[in-house]
Amino acid sequence: MEFDHILIRYGELALKGRNQKHFLNKLQQNVQHKLKAFPNIQVKRTQGRMFILLNGEDPQPIIDKVRRIFGIHSLSLAIKVQNELPQIEQAALYALKQSDAKTFKVSVRRVNKSFPKGSQEMNQHLGAHLLRHTEGIEVDVHNPDVEVKVEIRVDATYITSQVIPGAGGLPVGTSGKTLLLLSGGIDSPVAGYMMMKRGVELEAIHFHSPPFTSDRAKQKVIDLAEKLTAFGHRLKIHVVPFTTLQQKLFQEIPDGYAMTVMRRMMFQISEAVCRKQNILSMATGESLGQVASQTMESMHTINEVTNYPILRPLVAMDKQEIIKISKDIDTYDISIRPYEDCCTIFVPKSPKTKPKRDKVNQFEAGFDFQPYIDEAVENIETIIVTDEKPKDDLFEELF
Ligand code: ATP
Ligand code: MG
Repeated sequence: MEFDHILIRYGELALKGRNQKHFLNKLQQNVQHKLKAFPNIQVKRTQGRMFILLNGEDPQPIIDKVRRIFGIHSLSLAIKVQNELPQIEQAALYALKQSDAKTFKVSVRRVNKSFPKGSQEMNQHLGAHLLRHTEGIEVDVHNPDVEVKVEIRVDATYITSQVIPGAGGLPVGTSGKTLLLLSGGIDSPVAGYMMMKRGVELEAIHFHSPPFTSDRAKQKVIDLAEKLTAFGHRLKIHVVPFTTLQQKLFQEIPDGYAMTVMRRMMFQISEAVCRKQNILSMATGESLGQVASQTMESMHTINEVTNYPILRPLVAMDKQEIIKISKDIDTYDISIRPYEDCCTIFVPKSPKTKPKRDKVNQFEAGFDFQPYIDEAVENIETIIVTDEKPKDDLFEELF
């Protein structure tokens, strides 16, 4: 006897209304995609449930992948047996023994009314059977270590035990797309992860200033993007050559305002990419009060250049909370690699913490940056990172 199914449970609330079909199709697609490396398995939907049929595959590596797929509330290993008492007894015992529980409870649901024993009678019968065939394990109906669930359906009986928490959230691809401003820092990958958790698919944009920023700084961003593909599966990174524009603006704009102008240009360029790629919003790793550019005044001034929604999922989080997530999603060690990014290199000694819109507009009007912005946009290089193929041979010219 062995577990032959994985039962997937999804959040019921998300299933209300017209989106249900879209949600489930996307979830099934995402699961199928993540499990491509396991050719024997099948992903099935029947009677309002999603199952993975293991067909002899080892469940553990599959569980490890499925746990990271957004839109899944929890999982359980399951055994399917015929609607025969001895087989149900045997499967329930197996499920209990596979857990390391010290206390258990049996919950029988009889959907198939032609099965001769009722739910209550089955609870008692199976409870007694399990106690008889185990040692040192007790029943606890209120707070059991494990609940052995037995569902007697028309086609067969399904037995599950341990409930494994899933990643929650919504299936990636059910909430549209955003353009993530991805630096090599700690925050922006976490912001990307949080958007994906809400079902948003990502493309990324990175501002690169060679030779001031090295190839290793760019590689860092590719590696971060690759980590994020664990939660989706494909991510385009638009790498913007930012050197000339950045040098120009640090020449032309008074020191205290250069950072602000630089961020405005980043948003302008990002908006151009959004238009081209048909993306309706941008996301950043900004968090209020973290650094000089992340004050209310600064956000107000920077935001002036675009009316696209700017999603800031970390805006109210503490650095410690952000670091914890970055460790959980395995981006932290990459983020702390010591290569310079374009913002740290040109950072002025005392950036204004409360930049004003009218001041910035006045400074920007003194020089025509538009040709430089256009040139940066025209020379974007797009790299595709997937969770399947080596990233080097995937290149695409976009503009
Ligand atoms: P992070 O850890 O994400 O770098 P940070 O705390 O260093 O954030 P800033 O450097 O002020 O903060 O950047 C704020 C946000 O601007 C980043 O979270 C990111 O979304 C975006 N950003 C900054 N630099 C770049 C870059 N070189 N390319 C793309 N986006 C960037
Ligand atoms: Mg940064």
